[in-house]
Amino acid sequence: MTVTDLVIVVTGASRGLGLEFVKQLLERGNRVVATARNPKGSSALQDLASKHGSALTLVKLDVSDSSSIEVAAKDINSALTGGIDILINNAGILGSFVRSSEHDVGELRDILMTNVVGPFQVTQALLPLIRKGTKKQVVNISSTMGSIGSATKYLKDGLNPMSKMQLGYRTSKAALNMETAALALDLHEEGITLIAMCPGWVATDMGSSSATAMGIAGPGLDAPTSIAGMLKVIDGLTLEQTGSFYNYKGDIVPF
Ligand code: NDP
Repeated sequence: MTVTDLVIVVTGASRGLGLEFVKQLLERGNRVVATARNPKGSSALQDLASKHGSALTLVKLDVSDSSSIEVAAKDINSALTGGIDILINNAGILGSFVRSSEHDVGELRDILMTNVVGPFQVTQALLPLIRKGTKKQVVNISSTMGSIGSATKYLKDGLNPMSKMQLGYRTSKAALNMETAALALDLHEEGITLIAMCPGWVATDMGSSSATAMGIAGPGLDAPTSIAGMLKVIDGLTLEQTGSFYNYKGDIVPF
C-alpha cells in the first residue's frame, strides 16, 4: 500500500490545521472524509469538494454532541466501501485567557467535552471502520501545553506570560494524552496504533489568538509547514510507536 491509497478521516476540518490536513491529503491523492460542525458554512471545504469530486466526502460532525457523532459514524460508513486507514482527531477549543486559578468552571466542562470526551467517542464510534482499515492508526492532535513534564520544567527554568494561563486547555490535552496511551495499551493486540501529536505553535485562529491576548509576537510557524511535518511523522508511523507523543518535527514530547 502506498500513501496515496489511504482513506483518512479528519475532524474539525472547516479551518486552521484541519483544513490544511485536508488540502495536503487531497493534493497527494488520498481519499479524505472531512468532518466539520457546519461543512456547508465553510467556503474553503466547499471549494475543495468542487475541485476534488469523489476523493472528498464532507460530513457534519460536532464532536461535543453524542448524537451528532452517532449520525456522522453512520454517514462515514455509508460513504466508504472499505475501512478507515487513519483517523485524525483534530477538532479542539482553547477557552478564555484568564489566570488558571480563575478559570470558569462551566467553560472547563465545555473544553473537556470537546477536547477529551469528543475524540474518545469519535474513536469509539469509528473503531469498527478502523479495524477494517489497512493502517489502523489514530492521531490525536494534542499540545505541549498539556505536557506535565514541560509544565514542571517551566517552574524550574522560569515562567513565560502564558505559563499562568489556560488551566482548561492544559488539563484537556493532558487528559487526551492519557486517553491516547490508555487506548494504545488496549488496542495494541489488534494492531491499532495511537499517537498524540503537537503541531507546534501555529498561525491559525487559535494560535494567533494567544499572541493577541498576551500582546506578544505571533507564531512563526505556518499551517502548511506544520502539517507537512506531521504528515511525514504519520507516514512513517509503525505499531512499535503506539502510545507516544510527538511534535511536528518528529521529536518525542514528554507526557
Ligand atoms: P482553530 O481554532 O483555527 O480551528 C479549530 C477547529 O476545530 C475548527 O475547524 C472548529 O470548527 C473545530 N471545532 C471546534 N469545536 C468543535 C466541535 N465541537 N466539533 C467539531 N469541530 C469543532 O484551531 P487550530 O486549527 O489551530 O487547532 C487544531 C488543533 O490543533 C486543536 O486540537 C488544537 O488544540 C491543536 N493545537 C493548535 C495549536 C496552534 O498553535 N494553532 C498548538 C497546539 C495544538 P468551527 O469552524 O465549527 O468552529
